[in-house]
Amino acid sequence: MLLIGFLISLFVAYGAERRGSLTQTGALWAVIVGTLVFGLGDGIAGLALIAFFLSSTALGKYRRGEKAEASEKIIEKGDRRDGLQVLSNGGPAALFCVLYSLTGKTMYLVGALASLAAANADTWATEIGLLSKSPPRHILTLAEVPAGTSGAISLTGTLGMVAGALFVALLTWLEPSQGTLLRTLLITLGGIFGGWMDSVLGATVQEKRHCIKCGEATEQTRHVCGGATLVTEGIAGIDNDTVNALATTLGGTAAAVAWHFLVGR
Ligand SMILES: [Zn+2]
Repeated sequence: MLLIGFLISLFVAYGAERRGSLTQTGALWAVIVGTLVFGLGDGIAGLALIAFFLSSTALGKYRRGEKAEASEKIIEKGDRRDGLQVLSNGGPAALFCVLYSLTGKTMYLVGALASLAAANADTWATEIGLLSKSPPRHILTLAEVPAGTSGAISLTGTLGMVAGALFVALLTWLEPSQGTLLRTLLITLGGIFGGWMDSVLGATVQEKRHCIKCGEATEQTRHVCGGATLVTEGIAGIDNDTVNALATTLGGTAAAVAWHFLVGR
């Protein structure tokens, strides 16, 4: 199974790198993550990984022009996913799949699926939220903030988040097993919880930078205007990738723990 997982991942990652969706390091990590998820996740986790990768890549390209203006001054990285982005989205799922293969406990497979649902929920929330006509609001203070700000939510983005979690959860119906309904429910809820945690952590602990040249808020270490940036809020070093990794881990863990208490295996 690991060999089949490796070959599928190599094929997908090579194609994505050639098409500009992944950097070279991104493609390398995608092969490692993909091999573990496809090889050890009973097929169903590999399907969820592919669903996440293809749908988020497609959404990233959809109406790119309209979104570019809103995000290019704020967001740290473009559409091309690098190694850290691949790891923060797919790393927790790969670890859950390793735990699943070592212990045989279904709770870890549920954790892998929910962490992928969380990654998908967050990506859909961001991509769909950037299309919102009204400015998003800070998740805790509800103050209006510029589109693309971490920790900002909008109605459109929230609907995208729920749809993103449901998309992965409903796909898991394709491989029914004992407790399919509960599993689907926990994957959905874990995905939404992870997506929500991404916003909460993004609004609180994630570093906020300001450009010392033009004064605009940004996630970039060097602003598009050429100015250097300084951390003015949050914890320095906790960037978008760290928050993403925490959120996908928390979403997966919440679903795994819930499954353990309700089903016990
Ligand atoms: Zn600037």
